[in-house]
Amino acid sequence: MLRTLFVFSEMAPYSKTGGLADVGGALPVALGQLGVDTRVLVPYYGCPAIGELDWRCAVSVPYTDETAELWSLTERPQILFLRYPPYYERDGGPYQNAQGEDWPDNDRRFALLNRVAVEIAQGRVSGLDWRPDMVHANDWQAGLIPYLLDLEARIGAARPPVLFTIHNLAYQGRFPPRAMAPLHLPAADFHWLGTEHYGAFSFMKAGLAFSDQITTVSPTYAAEIQTSAFGMGLDGLLRSRSEHLSGILNGIDTIHWNPGADPYLAAHYSPQDRQMGKAQCKSQLQSSLGLYPDPGVFLLGMISRLVEQKGTDMVLDILPDLLRRGMQVVVLGSGDKSFERQLLEMAAAHPAQMATRIAFDEGLSHLIEAGVDAFLMPSRFEPCGLNQMYSLRYGTIPIVHRTGGLADTVTDADDFRHPLQRNGFVFDSPQSDALHHAVLRAEALFRQPALWSHLQDQAMAGDYSWQHSARAYLQLYYEVLVRHSGGH
Ligand code: ADP
Repeated sequence: MLRTLFVFSEMAPYSKTGGLADVGGALPVALGQLGVDTRVLVPYYGCPAIGELDWRCAVSVPYTDETAELWSLTERPQILFLRYPPYYERDGGPYQNAQGEDWPDNDRRFALLNRVAVEIAQGRVSGLDWRPDMVHANDWQAGLIPYLLDLEARIGAARPPVLFTIHNLAYQGRFPPRAMAPLHLPAADFHWLGTEHYGAFSFMKAGLAFSDQITTVSPTYAAEIQTSAFGMGLDGLLRSRSEHLSGILNGIDTIHWNPGADPYLAAHYSPQDRQMGKAQCKSQLQSSLGLYPDPGVFLLGMISRLVEQKGTDMVLDILPDLLRRGMQVVVLGSGDKSFERQLLEMAAAHPAQMATRIAFDEGLSHLIEAGVDAFLMPSRFEPCGLNQMYSLRYGTIPIVHRTGGLADTVTDADDFRHPLQRNGFVFDSPQSDALHHAVLRAEALFRQPALWSHLQDQAMAGDYSWQHSARAYLQLYYEVLVRHSGGH
C-alpha cells in the first residue's frame, strides 16, 4: 500500500482561511478511498477540543529546543496535529494576528512544521510506527520540506520524493536573508538556484527549486504561472522546471455541497427537479437579507475574500449601473477595509436591492449559492477557485474572467465550439467593462427562461467530485516514485 504524508497549514473543518483548507480536508480522503495510506500533518490551532484527541507523542526537532508534540484523532485518514502552543495556539488566524498583520515569527512557526514533517518522512519519530513513501507538501508553508530533505540527501541519507503543490503563487513566504541562520540553514544555499528570490529568503522558492514534482490546481494556471504576467517573479524557475510541472483541477466536497440535502437550505432540489426548490431558496435568501421579495428580479451573488485579486474593485465599478437596472446583489466576504466600507455604503443606500455581509459565514454561503441566479467571480487570477464549482452544482450560473481554474471549469453560453459544455459566462479581459458586458448578457438570457434553464441543466450535469483529481494525483505519485527510484 502506498503511504503518503500530506503537509498542510490549514485543514477543513479544523482551520480554514481559504480553498487550501478545503483541499486539505478532501484530497487525502479521496486518495484514501483509492487505497492510499494517507496521513495529514497540520498545525493544531486550538480545534478540535483537546479532549477529543486520543493519541499523542513527543517529537524532538533537530536544532531546536522546541518540544513539539503530535496529537491525533483515529480517523481515516489519520490527522497528525502538530501541537506547540506558543506558535500555533494564539488569538488570531493561522498566519495573521487579529489586526490582519502577519505574525512576525511566521518563518519559525512554519519551519517547525517543515522540520517535523521531515522527522516523520525519515521515520525518526519514535512512537509513530509509520514512514511515508511520498511527501505531498502544499504551498509556501510547507516549502522548506524538499529543501530540508535535499540537505539530508547531500550527506547520504535516503529520502522520499516530494510533490509540491502550489495553491496560490501570490503568497510566497518571503523573509529577510538573516532568517536562515537561526533556522540552521546553510548560508551557502542563499543563491538564485537555491532559497534566494529577489534578495529574500523564500519558502516558496525552496519548494519549487528542490521538489521532485510540482503541481498546481488547474491546467490553465499551470501554463499561466510560466509567463511573466502571472509568474510573480518565479516564472523563469517554473519554465525551467516545466517538464515536472502540471495542473490538476481541484474537486469539491459533493456531500457538503449538495443542493439535494444541504441542511442550510429551506428547500432542496436536484438536477431533475430544480424549479420549485431553487425558487424557494431565492425567496429564503431575499427575506433573510431584507431584499425586496421579487422572484423575477435578476439576483447576483459574490462570496469572496474582498481583495484586488478577486476583482472586488471591478464589481464596485459596475454596481451602480446594475442597481439602476433593477438587479439585486448579495456580497459576503471580508478583506480590504476600503472595499468593505464601499460595499457596506452601497448596500445601506439600496437596502431593498443590495445586502453586504462582512463575515465568514458558512451557512449564508450555502444560502447564497442556492438562492442567487448568477454568481460573480471576476478574479484577475484564480489558481482553481471553488465557488464557481459550488455555483454550477447548485444550478447558479457563474460569470467569470477567463483565467486559471475558472477557464477550465466554465464554458461561455455563446461558445459555439463546445455547445454541450456551456454553463456560464466568460469574459476575456479583467476590466470592469468586460465584466459589465458579461452581466448584461447573462441578464438577457435570464429573461429567456427556456434557454436559462438549459444552461442550468448543463451546469448541474457536470462532475465536480474529487474522484478525477485523486486518480490524477495517484498516477503522478507513481510516476514520481518510479523516477525517484531511478526507473528513468
Ligand atoms: P481562495 O482560497 O483564494 O480564498 P477559493 O475559491 O479557492 O478562494 O476558496 C474560498 C473558500 O472559502 C470557498 O470554500 C468559499 O466558499 C469560502 N469563503 C470565502 N469567503 C467566505 C465567507 N466570507 N464566508 C464563507 N465562506 C467563504
